[in-house]
Amino acid sequence: MQTVGILGGGQLARMLALAGAPLGLRFLVVDSAIEACASQVAPLVRADWRDFDALADFARRIDVATFDFENVPAETAQWLAGRTRVFPNPGALAVSQDRLAEKLLFRDVGLGTPAFATVDSRADLEAAINTVGLPCVLKTRRLGYDGKGQRVLRSRADADSAWQLLGSSPLILEAFIPFTREVSVIGVRSRSGEFRHYPLTRNWHVDGILSVSLAPAPDATALEHAAIAHARAIAERLDYVGAFALELFDVDGQLLGNEIAPRVHNSGHWTIEGAVCSQFENHLRAVLDLPLGDTSARGVSVMLNWVGALPEAAAILREAGAHWHDYGKDSRAGRKVGHATVCADEDATLRLRLESVGQALGREWQVAPAIEALTQ
Ligand code: AMP
Repeated sequence: MQTVGILGGGQLARMLALAGAPLGLRFLVVDSAIEACASQVAPLVRADWRDFDALADFARRIDVATFDFENVPAETAQWLAGRTRVFPNPGALAVSQDRLAEKLLFRDVGLGTPAFATVDSRADLEAAINTVGLPCVLKTRRLGYDGKGQRVLRSRADADSAWQLLGSSPLILEAFIPFTREVSVIGVRSRSGEFRHYPLTRNWHVDGILSVSLAPAPDATALEHAAIAHARAIAERLDYVGAFALELFDVDGQLLGNEIAPRVHNSGHWTIEGAVCSQFENHLRAVLDLPLGDTSARGVSVMLNWVGALPEAAAILREAGAHWHDYGKDSRAGRKVGHATVCADEDATLRLRLESVGQALGREWQVAPAIEALTQ
């Protein structure tokens, strides 16, 4: 019986623990919040990232440590790696915590990025606008997620307010990309170097937060080839172990790297019911050095995120091919509190199911982009 320790006790840790139960795994979760939702399904060590006494005890009780949260301080990950096995490795975590390091890595493996410049002063911001052009996006280099820590600049007049909002942290200015679509690839690499990937996923964001994922992404064969080659090159360069997401902008058939998430990812939640072996199970297999599972899609799936509050469950539960996930979290604006995955054997059936779910929930706006993509 092996015990997997997870740093961070949110919905990702919760779904990892649920995926690991059939494999006979035990879990121990660290989080500073007593209400961390993974604690409903796995024991919780309540500690913050600098509580080294609690973390030493945690390290003694587990066989391997992994992450639900990528912003665990790199020093904590490094410290822990001196006491137990930690996957992904702290170096890989550090790269993904810094938007600059991430972009340099992308360019190193031949993946283009939006034009960018670092910004450490108000004068840098003016110079960066000159180099990058308008419109552009000012982002904190660290600790940004779900559209937090970023501001779009449409004209020079927006620079002052963006600087006032974000200027206390190291920043990066990126060109605003008028992408054709957003896609992601979930890759997984095991301790022995085995690499697998899920089919390319198409994603739609609302206010910087993932709203809908459709997998496999329609009409994406050529893109998929390139996306997977990049994902694999990044994983090998980082000696990465575990599941990860590479988020990409498709600009008229050319891919640009946006970011990597060094963990299981929201755009891979559809794999729970929509793939033969889910990203969660494969992450566990990877960090435990077990053979990786089949990443093929079973038919076609759409994941709908519930942000802020849950809609009525019954409308999902009564729909054929639909699956309900309630993370056990309190409602709060901007917070991911659950998702649903709607699966079908073929596009036409999935469209009908999405129409039915959209109407029943009064969320036609949310299902519309996926229905449109399935119709083309
Ligand atoms: P991020 O936290 O960087 O993944 O940004 C969240 C979302 O904001 C992305 O998925 C995009 O929808 C949008 N976004 C971020 N950066 C850019 C960019 N440079 N150009 C256009 N849209 C962007």
